[in-house]
Amino acid sequence: MSDARRALPSVGALLESAGVRALLQSAPRSLVVDAVRAAVADARTSAAVPSDDAGWTAVVAERLADASRRSLRRVVNATGIVLHTNLGRAPLADVALEAIAAMAGGYSNLEFDLDAGARGSRYVHCASLLRELTGAEDALVVNNCAAALVLALNTIADGREAILSRGELVEIGGSFRVHEIMSKSGARLREVGATNRTHLVDYERALGPSTGAILKVHRSNFAVTGFTSEATVAELAPLAQQAGIPILHDLGSGLLVSLESIGLKGEPTAREARAAGASIVVMSGDKLLGGPQAGLIVGDAKWIDAMRRNPLARSYRVDKLTLAALEATLALYREPARALAEIPTLALLGTSPDELRGRADALCRALAADGVACEVVESVGSVGACAFPDAELPGAAVALAGDAEGWARRLRTGSRDRSSPRRSALSAGVPHDQPPAVVGRVHDGRLHLDLRSVLAHELSELARAVVDARE
Ligand SMILES: *Cc1c(COP(=O)(O)O)cnc(C)c1O
Repeated sequence: MSDARRALPSVGALLESAGVRALLQSAPRSLVVDAVRAAVADARTSAAVPSDDAGWTAVVAERLADASRRSLRRVVNATGIVLHTNLGRAPLADVALEAIAAMAGGYSNLEFDLDAGARGSRYVHCASLLRELTGAEDALVVNNCAAALVLALNTIADGREAILSRGELVEIGGSFRVHEIMSKSGARLREVGATNRTHLVDYERALGPSTGAILKVHRSNFAVTGFTSEATVAELAPLAQQAGIPILHDLGSGLLVSLESIGLKGEPTAREARAAGASIVVMSGDKLLGGPQAGLIVGDAKWIDAMRRNPLARSYRVDKLTLAALEATLALYREPARALAEIPTLALLGTSPDELRGRADALCRALAADGVACEVVESVGSVGACAFPDAELPGAAVALAGDAEGWARRLRTGSRDRSSPRRSALSAGVPHDQPPAVVGRVHDGRLHLDLRSVLAHELSELARAVVDARE
Protein backbone atom coordinates (compact mmCIF):
# COMPACT_ATOMS: atom_id res chain seq x y z
CA MET A 1 0.00 0.00 0.00
CA SER A 2 1.33 3.43 -0.95
CA ASP A 3 1.84 6.15 1.61
CA ALA A 4 -0.82 8.33 0.05
CA ARG A 5 -3.42 5.59 0.42
CA ARG A 6 -2.53 4.83 3.98
CA ALA A 7 -3.05 8.52 4.65
CA LEU A 8 -6.56 8.68 3.20
CA PRO A 9 -8.57 11.33 5.04
CA SER A 10 -11.77 10.32 6.82
CA VAL A 11 -15.15 11.30 5.47
CA GLY A 12 -15.68 13.49 8.53
CA ALA A 13 -12.38 15.29 8.07
CA LEU A 14 -13.09 15.99 4.42
CA LEU A 15 -16.50 17.40 5.29
CA GLU A 16 -14.75 19.83 7.64
CA SER A 17 -12.22 20.97 5.04
CA ALA A 18 -12.64 24.48 3.69
CA GLY A 19 -13.06 23.38 0.08
CA VAL A 20 -15.78 20.81 0.75
CA ARG A 21 -17.54 23.14 3.20
CA ALA A 22 -17.77 25.65 0.36
CA LEU A 23 -19.55 23.05 -1.77
CA LEU A 24 -22.24 22.83 0.89
CA GLN A 25 -23.24 26.37 -0.01
CA SER A 26 -24.63 25.26 -3.35
CA ALA A 27 -25.67 21.61 -2.88
CA PRO A 28 -27.75 19.63 -0.37
CA ARG A 29 -25.70 18.11 2.47
CA SER A 30 -26.84 14.57 1.66
CA LEU A 31 -25.46 14.83 -1.86
CA VAL A 32 -22.16 16.28 -0.65
CA VAL A 33 -21.78 13.49 1.95
CA ASP A 34 -22.46 10.87 -0.72
CA ALA A 35 -19.93 12.52 -3.03
CA VAL A 36 -17.27 12.57 -0.30
CA ARG A 37 -17.88 8.89 0.53
CA ALA A 38 -17.64 7.98 -3.15
CA ALA A 39 -14.45 10.00 -3.57
CA VAL A 40 -12.80 8.22 -0.60
CA ALA A 41 -13.98 4.83 -1.83
CA ASP A 42 -12.58 5.61 -5.28
CA ALA A 43 -9.24 6.60 -3.81
CA ARG A 44 -8.93 3.20 -2.07
CA THR A 45 -8.83 1.42 -5.41
CA SER A 46 -7.35 4.11 -7.60
CA ALA A 47 -3.76 4.84 -8.48
CA ALA A 48 -4.35 8.59 -8.49
CA VAL A 49 -5.03 9.77 -4.95
CA PRO A 50 -5.47 13.50 -4.31
CA SER A 51 -2.52 14.87 -2.39
CA ASP A 52 -4.07 17.97 -0.82
CA ASP A 53 -7.28 19.73 0.08
CA ALA A 54 -7.68 21.35 -3.31
CA GLY A 55 -7.24 17.98 -5.00
CA TRP A 56 -9.89 16.36 -2.84
CA THR A 57 -12.26 19.26 -3.36
CA ALA A 58 -11.93 18.92 -7.13
CA VAL A 59 -12.69 15.19 -7.02
CA VAL A 60 -15.66 15.67 -4.71
CA ALA A 61 -16.95 18.53 -6.89
CA GLU A 62 -16.75 16.33 -9.96
CA ARG A 63 -18.73 13.59 -8.19
CA LEU A 64 -21.26 16.15 -7.06
CA ALA A 65 -21.64 17.51 -10.57
CA ASP A 66 -22.42 14.00 -11.82
CA ALA A 67 -24.99 13.43 -9.09
CA SER A 68 -26.63 16.83 -9.57
CA ARG A 69 -26.87 16.56 -13.31
CA ARG A 70 -30.46 16.43 -14.40
CA SER A 71 -31.59 13.42 -16.33
CA LEU A 72 -33.43 15.49 -18.93
CA ARG A 73 -30.88 17.81 -20.45
CA ARG A 74 -30.69 20.31 -23.23
CA VAL A 75 -29.08 19.17 -26.46
CA VAL A 76 -27.83 21.18 -29.41
CA ASN A 77 -29.01 19.17 -32.39
CA ALA A 78 -26.18 19.26 -34.92
CA THR A 79 -27.28 16.09 -36.73
CA GLY A 80 -28.85 17.93 -39.67
CA ILE A 81 -32.14 16.13 -38.96
CA VAL A 82 -34.60 18.88 -38.12
CA LEU A 83 -37.31 16.74 -36.54
CA HIS A 84 -35.34 14.22 -34.52
CA THR A 85 -37.65 12.06 -32.41
CA ASN A 86 -34.85 11.01 -30.06
CA LEU A 87 -33.94 14.65 -29.50
CA GLY A 88 -37.46 15.75 -28.67
CA ARG A 89 -38.81 16.71 -32.11
CA ALA A 90 -40.05 20.27 -32.54
CA PRO A 91 -38.50 23.15 -30.59
CA LEU A 92 -41.30 25.55 -29.68
CA ALA A 93 -41.90 29.06 -30.96
CA ASP A 94 -41.33 31.98 -28.58
CA VAL A 95 -45.07 32.66 -28.32
CA ALA A 96 -45.61 29.04 -27.26
CA LEU A 97 -42.91 29.31 -24.59
CA GLU A 98 -44.49 32.49 -23.28
CA ALA A 99 -47.89 30.81 -23.21
CA ILE A 100 -46.49 27.89 -21.21
CA ALA A 101 -44.77 30.21 -18.75
CA ALA A 102 -47.96 32.23 -18.32
CA MET A 103 -50.07 29.13 -17.55
CA ALA A 104 -47.57 27.03 -15.65
CA GLY A 105 -47.10 29.09 -12.53
CA GLY A 106 -50.73 29.62 -11.63
CA TYR A 107 -54.32 28.61 -12.22
CA SER A 108 -56.26 28.73 -15.47
CA ASN A 109 -59.73 28.17 -16.90
CA LEU A 110 -58.65 24.72 -18.06
CA GLU A 111 -62.01 23.20 -17.18
CA PHE A 112 -63.94 26.26 -16.10
CA ASP A 113 -66.36 28.28 -18.19
CA LEU A 114 -65.61 31.89 -17.29
CA ASP A 115 -68.78 33.22 -18.96
CA ALA A 116 -71.10 30.82 -17.19
CA GLY A 117 -69.11 30.71 -13.97
CA ALA A 118 -69.47 26.94 -13.99
CA ARG A 119 -67.55 23.84 -14.81
CA GLY A 120 -66.33 23.76 -18.41
CA SER A 121 -64.47 21.34 -20.65
CA ARG A 122 -60.76 21.21 -21.42
CA TYR A 123 -61.69 19.96 -24.86
CA VAL A 124 -62.91 23.39 -25.99
CA HIS A 125 -59.39 24.81 -26.00
CA CYS A 126 -57.78 24.74 -29.46
CA ALA A 127 -60.92 23.23 -31.03
CA SER A 128 -62.12 26.38 -32.78
CA LEU A 129 -58.62 27.20 -34.05
CA LEU A 130 -58.32 23.71 -35.47
CA ARG A 131 -61.72 24.04 -37.13
CA GLU A 132 -60.66 27.34 -38.63
CA LEU A 133 -57.30 26.05 -39.87
CA THR A 134 -58.47 22.72 -41.30
CA GLY A 135 -62.07 23.38 -42.34
CA ALA A 136 -63.23 20.45 -40.20
CA GLU A 137 -66.55 20.45 -38.34
CA ASP A 138 -64.93 19.72 -35.02
CA ALA A 139 -61.61 18.85 -33.38
CA LEU A 140 -60.18 17.11 -30.34
CA VAL A 141 -56.66 17.21 -28.89
CA VAL A 142 -55.12 14.19 -27.16
CA ASN A 143 -51.67 13.20 -25.98
CA ASN A 144 -50.06 12.13 -29.25
CA CYS A 145 -50.94 10.80 -32.67
CA ALA A 146 -50.73 7.17 -31.53
CA ALA A 147 -53.37 7.88 -28.87
CA ALA A 148 -55.45 9.73 -31.46
CA LEU A 149 -55.40 6.69 -33.71
CA VAL A 150 -56.36 4.27 -30.92
CA LEU A 151 -59.16 6.55 -29.75
CA ALA A 152 -60.49 7.05 -33.27
CA LEU A 153 -60.36 3.34 -34.15
CA ASN A 154 -61.88 2.30 -30.85
CA THR A 155 -64.70 4.81 -31.24
CA ILE A 156 -65.45 4.05 -34.87
CA ALA A 157 -64.61 0.38 -35.33
CA ASP A 158 -64.44 -1.47 -31.97
CA GLY A 159 -65.23 -5.13 -32.64
CA ARG A 160 -65.45 -4.48 -36.36
CA GLU A 161 -63.08 -4.54 -39.28
CA ALA A 162 -60.86 -1.70 -40.37
CA ILE A 163 -59.69 -2.13 -43.94
CA LEU A 164 -56.04 -1.28 -44.54
CA SER A 165 -53.74 -1.67 -47.52
CA ARG A 166 -50.79 -4.03 -47.04
CA GLY A 167 -48.66 -1.17 -48.36
CA GLU A 168 -49.60 0.87 -45.29
CA LEU A 169 -48.92 -1.72 -42.58
CA VAL A 170 -46.01 0.38 -41.41
CA GLU A 171 -43.77 0.80 -38.41
CA ILE A 172 -42.97 4.32 -37.33
CA GLY A 173 -40.17 4.49 -34.80
CA GLY A 174 -39.46 1.40 -32.73
CA SER A 175 -42.67 1.40 -30.76
CA PHE A 176 -45.41 2.23 -33.21
CA ARG A 177 -46.66 -0.45 -35.54
CA VAL A 178 -49.98 0.15 -37.14
CA HIS A 179 -51.22 -3.42 -36.78
CA GLU A 180 -50.27 -3.62 -33.11
CA ILE A 181 -51.94 -0.31 -32.31
CA MET A 182 -54.94 -1.49 -34.18
CA SER A 183 -55.33 -4.72 -32.29
CA LYS A 184 -55.23 -2.81 -28.99
CA SER A 185 -57.97 -0.51 -30.25
CA GLY A 186 -60.41 -3.38 -30.61
CA ALA A 187 -60.68 -2.96 -34.37
CA ARG A 188 -59.87 -6.04 -36.46
CA LEU A 189 -57.34 -5.56 -39.20
CA ARG A 190 -58.61 -6.48 -42.65
CA GLU A 191 -55.58 -6.38 -44.94
CA VAL A 192 -56.12 -5.74 -48.63
CA GLY A 193 -53.91 -5.46 -51.70
CA ALA A 194 -50.20 -6.12 -52.01
CA THR A 195 -47.22 -4.34 -50.50
CA ASN A 196 -46.55 -2.34 -53.64
CA ARG A 197 -50.01 -2.13 -55.21
CA THR A 198 -53.50 -1.76 -53.81
CA HIS A 199 -56.48 -0.89 -55.96
CA LEU A 200 -59.91 0.54 -55.35
CA VAL A 201 -61.45 -2.82 -56.17
CA ASP A 202 -59.47 -4.44 -53.30
CA TYR A 203 -61.30 -2.21 -50.85
CA GLU A 204 -64.58 -2.75 -52.63
CA ARG A 205 -64.30 -6.53 -52.25
CA ALA A 206 -63.42 -6.27 -48.58
CA LEU A 207 -66.39 -4.07 -47.68
CA GLY A 208 -69.09 -5.99 -45.86
CA PRO A 209 -71.44 -6.03 -42.91
CA SER A 210 -68.58 -6.23 -40.41
CA THR A 211 -66.66 -3.26 -41.84
CA GLY A 212 -66.28 -0.42 -39.35
CA ALA A 213 -63.77 1.83 -41.07
CA ILE A 214 -61.42 2.31 -43.97
CA LEU A 215 -58.01 3.28 -42.64
CA LYS A 216 -55.42 5.18 -44.64
CA VAL A 217 -51.98 5.54 -43.09
CA HIS A 218 -49.49 8.01 -44.41
CA ARG A 219 -46.22 6.27 -45.31
CA SER A 220 -44.27 8.91 -43.55
CA ASN A 221 -40.79 7.46 -43.08
CA PHE A 222 -40.13 5.78 -46.40
CA ALA A 223 -41.01 6.22 -50.05
CA VAL A 224 -42.20 3.55 -52.47
CA THR A 225 -41.14 3.80 -56.05
CA GLY A 226 -41.29 1.57 -59.10
CA PHE A 227 -44.29 -0.66 -59.85
CA THR A 228 -46.66 0.83 -57.33
CA SER A 229 -50.19 2.09 -57.01
CA GLU A 230 -52.54 3.04 -54.24
CA ALA A 231 -56.13 4.11 -53.91
CA THR A 232 -56.14 7.67 -52.60
CA VAL A 233 -58.62 9.02 -50.07
CA ALA A 234 -60.27 11.00 -52.87
CA GLU A 235 -60.71 7.81 -54.88
CA LEU A 236 -61.99 5.88 -51.87
CA ALA A 237 -64.40 8.58 -50.74
CA PRO A 238 -67.34 7.79 -53.08
CA LEU A 239 -67.08 4.09 -52.22
CA ALA A 240 -66.98 4.82 -48.48
CA GLN A 241 -69.87 7.23 -48.71
CA GLN A 242 -72.02 4.76 -50.59
CA ALA A 243 -71.31 2.09 -47.99
CA GLY A 244 -71.81 4.52 -45.12
CA ILE A 245 -68.33 3.74 -43.78
CA PRO A 246 -66.05 6.47 -42.41
CA ILE A 247 -62.51 6.92 -43.75
CA LEU A 248 -59.94 7.47 -41.03
CA HIS A 249 -56.74 9.05 -42.31
CA ASP A 250 -53.59 8.89 -40.18
CA LEU A 251 -51.66 11.75 -41.67
CA GLY A 252 -48.71 11.48 -39.27
CA SER A 253 -47.07 14.84 -39.58
CA GLY A 254 -49.51 17.67 -39.16
CA LEU A 255 -48.90 19.99 -42.05
CA LEU A 256 -51.09 23.10 -41.82
CA VAL A 257 -49.57 25.17 -44.62
CA SER A 258 -48.02 24.15 -47.90
CA LEU A 259 -44.24 24.09 -47.73
CA GLU A 260 -43.75 24.39 -51.49
CA SER A 261 -42.31 27.87 -51.00
CA ILE A 262 -39.38 26.26 -49.19
CA GLY A 263 -39.04 23.46 -51.70
CA LEU A 264 -40.94 20.68 -49.90
CA LYS A 265 -43.66 19.16 -52.04
CA GLY A 266 -45.94 16.17 -52.09
CA GLU A 267 -47.39 15.96 -48.58
CA PRO A 268 -51.02 16.97 -48.13
CA THR A 269 -52.01 19.62 -45.63
CA ALA A 270 -54.59 18.66 -43.02
CA ARG A 271 -57.13 20.79 -44.86
CA GLU A 272 -56.46 18.95 -48.13
CA ALA A 273 -56.57 15.55 -46.42
CA ARG A 274 -59.89 16.42 -44.88
CA ALA A 275 -61.31 17.89 -48.10
CA ALA A 276 -60.35 14.71 -49.97
CA GLY A 277 -63.14 12.96 -48.11
CA ALA A 278 -61.79 11.52 -44.86
CA SER A 279 -64.30 11.59 -42.01
CA ILE A 280 -61.48 11.81 -39.50
CA VAL A 281 -57.88 12.98 -39.88
CA VAL A 282 -55.32 12.41 -37.10
CA MET A 283 -51.86 13.97 -36.88
CA SER A 284 -49.01 14.82 -34.52
CA GLY A 285 -48.57 18.20 -32.87
CA ASP A 286 -44.78 18.02 -32.62
CA LYS A 287 -43.75 17.04 -36.11
CA LEU A 288 -44.04 19.50 -39.01
CA LEU A 289 -46.71 21.44 -37.20
CA GLY A 290 -43.94 22.57 -34.88
CA GLY A 291 -45.90 22.51 -31.63
CA PRO A 292 -45.85 20.46 -28.43
CA GLN A 293 -46.34 16.69 -28.31
CA ALA A 294 -50.02 16.16 -29.04
CA GLY A 295 -52.40 14.19 -31.21
CA LEU A 296 -54.83 16.30 -33.19
CA ILE A 297 -58.09 14.78 -34.36
CA VAL A 298 -60.21 16.74 -36.82
CA GLY A 299 -63.30 15.68 -38.70
CA ASP A 300 -67.03 15.03 -38.60
CA ALA A 301 -68.74 16.47 -35.55
CA LYS A 302 -70.62 13.25 -34.76
CA TRP A 303 -67.42 11.21 -34.57
CA ILE A 304 -65.49 13.83 -32.63
CA ASP A 305 -68.35 14.02 -30.18
CA ALA A 306 -68.39 10.24 -29.78
CA MET A 307 -64.62 10.29 -29.16
CA ARG A 308 -64.98 12.96 -26.50
CA ARG A 309 -67.46 10.73 -24.69
CA ASN A 310 -65.33 7.59 -25.07
CA PRO A 311 -63.83 6.78 -21.63
CA LEU A 312 -60.47 6.22 -23.34
CA ALA A 313 -60.34 9.96 -24.05
CA ARG A 314 -59.80 10.53 -20.35
CA SER A 315 -56.63 8.49 -20.34
CA TYR A 316 -55.24 10.29 -23.37
CA ARG A 317 -56.07 13.80 -22.28
CA VAL A 318 -53.53 16.62 -22.55
CA ASP A 319 -52.45 18.95 -19.80
CA LYS A 320 -52.74 22.70 -19.66
CA LEU A 321 -49.15 23.33 -20.70
CA THR A 322 -49.65 21.40 -23.90
CA LEU A 323 -52.86 23.25 -24.66
CA ALA A 324 -51.23 26.60 -23.96
CA ALA A 325 -48.32 25.86 -26.29
CA LEU A 326 -50.53 24.35 -28.95
CA GLU A 327 -53.00 27.24 -28.99
CA ALA A 328 -50.19 29.78 -29.35
CA THR A 329 -48.56 27.74 -32.12
CA LEU A 330 -51.81 27.23 -34.01
CA ALA A 331 -52.61 30.94 -33.84
CA LEU A 332 -49.41 31.67 -35.78
CA TYR A 333 -50.83 29.73 -38.72
CA ARG A 334 -53.51 32.40 -39.22
CA GLU A 335 -50.70 34.25 -41.00
CA PRO A 336 -48.76 31.59 -42.89
CA ALA A 337 -45.77 33.87 -43.45
CA ARG A 338 -45.54 34.36 -39.70
CA ALA A 339 -45.77 30.61 -39.12
CA LEU A 340 -42.90 30.02 -41.54
CA ALA A 341 -40.76 32.63 -39.83
CA GLU A 342 -41.58 32.05 -36.15
CA ILE A 343 -42.08 28.30 -35.83
CA PRO A 344 -38.52 27.04 -35.35
CA THR A 345 -39.07 23.79 -37.25
CA LEU A 346 -40.34 25.63 -40.31
CA ALA A 347 -37.72 28.37 -40.00
CA LEU A 348 -34.94 25.76 -39.92
CA LEU A 349 -36.37 23.93 -42.91
CA GLY A 350 -36.63 27.21 -44.79
CA THR A 351 -33.10 28.47 -44.11
CA SER A 352 -31.21 28.89 -47.38
CA PRO A 353 -27.98 26.98 -48.05
CA ASP A 354 -26.18 30.35 -48.36
CA GLU A 355 -27.35 31.42 -44.93
CA LEU A 356 -26.28 28.07 -43.46
CA ARG A 357 -22.88 28.39 -45.09
CA GLY A 358 -22.54 31.85 -43.56
CA ARG A 359 -23.31 30.41 -40.11
CA ALA A 360 -20.90 27.54 -40.65
CA ASP A 361 -18.15 29.99 -41.70
CA ALA A 362 -18.72 32.06 -38.57
CA LEU A 363 -18.68 28.97 -36.33
CA CYS A 364 -15.52 27.65 -37.95
CA ARG A 365 -13.76 31.02 -37.55
CA ALA A 366 -14.75 31.18 -33.88
CA LEU A 367 -13.45 27.65 -33.30
CA ALA A 368 -10.21 28.27 -35.18
CA ALA A 369 -9.59 31.35 -33.04
CA ASP A 370 -9.67 29.03 -30.03
CA GLY A 371 -7.33 26.56 -31.62
CA VAL A 372 -9.85 23.98 -32.87
CA ALA A 373 -8.91 22.78 -36.35
CA CYS A 374 -11.99 22.53 -38.55
CA GLU A 375 -13.34 23.05 -42.02
CA VAL A 376 -16.67 24.04 -43.56
CA VAL A 377 -18.15 21.34 -45.78
CA GLU A 378 -21.32 20.94 -47.79
CA SER A 379 -23.91 18.71 -46.19
CA VAL A 380 -27.29 17.19 -46.83
CA GLY A 381 -29.80 17.48 -44.03
CA SER A 382 -33.25 15.94 -43.79
CA VAL A 383 -36.66 16.71 -42.37
CA GLY A 384 -36.79 13.64 -40.10
CA ALA A 385 -39.69 12.46 -37.90
CA CYS A 386 -41.82 10.91 -40.50
CA ALA A 387 -42.25 13.60 -43.10
CA PHE A 388 -40.87 14.16 -46.58
CA PRO A 389 -38.74 11.01 -46.20
CA ASP A 390 -36.85 11.45 -49.45
CA ALA A 391 -36.31 15.20 -49.25
CA GLU A 392 -32.66 16.26 -49.23
CA LEU A 393 -31.86 19.63 -47.72
CA PRO A 394 -28.56 21.02 -49.02
CA GLY A 395 -26.74 22.94 -46.33
CA ALA A 396 -23.44 23.31 -44.55
CA ALA A 397 -21.60 21.66 -41.69
CA VAL A 398 -18.42 22.24 -39.73
CA ALA A 399 -16.17 19.18 -39.82
CA LEU A 400 -13.87 18.87 -36.80
CA ALA A 401 -10.35 17.59 -37.32
CA GLY A 402 -9.30 14.66 -35.17
CA ASP A 403 -10.82 11.49 -33.79
CA ALA A 404 -14.53 11.61 -34.64
CA GLU A 405 -15.70 9.16 -31.98
CA GLY A 406 -13.74 10.99 -29.29
CA TRP A 407 -15.28 14.33 -30.28
CA ALA A 408 -18.73 12.77 -30.41
CA ARG A 409 -18.37 11.27 -26.93
CA ARG A 410 -16.96 14.37 -25.27
CA LEU A 411 -19.60 16.62 -26.85
CA ARG A 412 -22.40 14.26 -25.82
CA THR A 413 -21.33 13.80 -22.23
CA GLY A 414 -19.92 17.29 -21.78
CA SER A 415 -17.09 15.94 -19.68
CA ARG A 416 -13.45 15.25 -20.15
CA ASP A 417 -11.69 12.29 -18.69
CA ARG A 418 -11.93 12.03 -14.91
CA SER A 419 -8.22 12.61 -14.65
CA SER A 420 -8.69 16.20 -15.81
CA PRO A 421 -11.81 17.58 -14.15
CA ARG A 422 -13.37 20.57 -15.88
CA ARG A 423 -13.27 23.90 -14.24
CA SER A 424 -17.06 24.07 -14.32
CA ALA A 425 -17.25 21.06 -12.02
CA LEU A 426 -16.30 23.38 -9.21
CA SER A 427 -19.64 25.16 -9.56
CA ALA A 428 -21.47 21.89 -8.91
CA GLY A 429 -25.00 21.82 -7.61
CA VAL A 430 -26.39 24.28 -10.13
CA PRO A 431 -27.66 21.90 -12.79
CA HIS A 432 -29.46 24.48 -14.95
CA ASP A 433 -26.14 26.23 -15.45
CA GLN A 434 -24.88 23.18 -17.24
CA PRO A 435 -24.00 23.66 -20.86
CA PRO A 436 -26.06 21.66 -23.35
CA ALA A 437 -24.86 18.37 -24.74
CA VAL A 438 -24.09 18.43 -28.45
CA VAL A 439 -25.03 15.65 -30.85
CA GLY A 440 -23.44 15.74 -34.30
CA ARG A 441 -23.02 13.24 -37.08
CA VAL A 442 -20.00 11.12 -37.89
CA HIS A 443 -19.32 11.23 -41.61
CA ASP A 444 -16.26 9.94 -43.46
CA GLY A 445 -14.31 9.59 -40.24
CA ARG A 446 -14.92 13.13 -39.00
CA LEU A 447 -17.50 14.64 -36.70
CA HIS A 448 -19.78 16.99 -38.63
CA LEU A 449 -21.78 19.68 -36.92
CA ASP A 450 -24.61 20.27 -39.37
CA LEU A 451 -26.04 23.78 -39.11
CA ARG A 452 -29.39 22.82 -40.70
CA SER A 453 -30.80 21.75 -37.34
CA VAL A 454 -29.00 24.25 -35.07
CA LEU A 455 -31.17 27.13 -33.89
CA ALA A 456 -29.65 30.53 -34.62
CA HIS A 457 -29.51 31.48 -30.93
CA GLU A 458 -27.56 28.30 -30.10
CA LEU A 459 -24.54 29.10 -32.25
CA SER A 460 -22.43 30.76 -29.57
CA GLU A 461 -23.27 28.01 -27.06
CA LEU A 462 -22.30 25.44 -29.66
CA ALA A 463 -18.94 27.12 -30.21
CA ARG A 464 -18.29 27.20 -26.45
CA ALA A 465 -19.25 23.54 -26.05
CA VAL A 466 -16.81 22.52 -28.78
CA VAL A 467 -13.98 24.58 -27.30
CA ASP A 468 -14.71 23.05 -23.87
CA ALA A 469 -14.64 19.56 -25.35
CA ARG A 470 -11.14 19.83 -26.83
CA GLU A 471 -8.85 17.03 -25.79
C1 LIG B 1 -45.38 9.77 -36.28
C2 LIG B 1 -46.58 9.05 -36.72
C3 LIG B 1 -47.44 8.53 -35.77
C4 LIG B 1 -47.20 8.61 -34.30
O1 LIG B 1 -47.29 9.93 -33.87
P1 LIG B 1 -46.97 10.30 -32.33
O2 LIG B 1 -47.45 11.71 -32.22
O3 LIG B 1 -45.51 10.15 -32.18
O4 LIG B 1 -47.74 9.37 -31.48
C5 LIG B 1 -48.57 7.88 -36.24
N1 LIG B 1 -48.80 7.75 -37.54
C6 LIG B 1 -47.98 8.25 -38.49
C7 LIG B 1 -48.30 8.04 -39.93
C8 LIG B 1 -46.84 8.93 -38.10
O5 LIG B 1 -46.01 9.43 -39.02
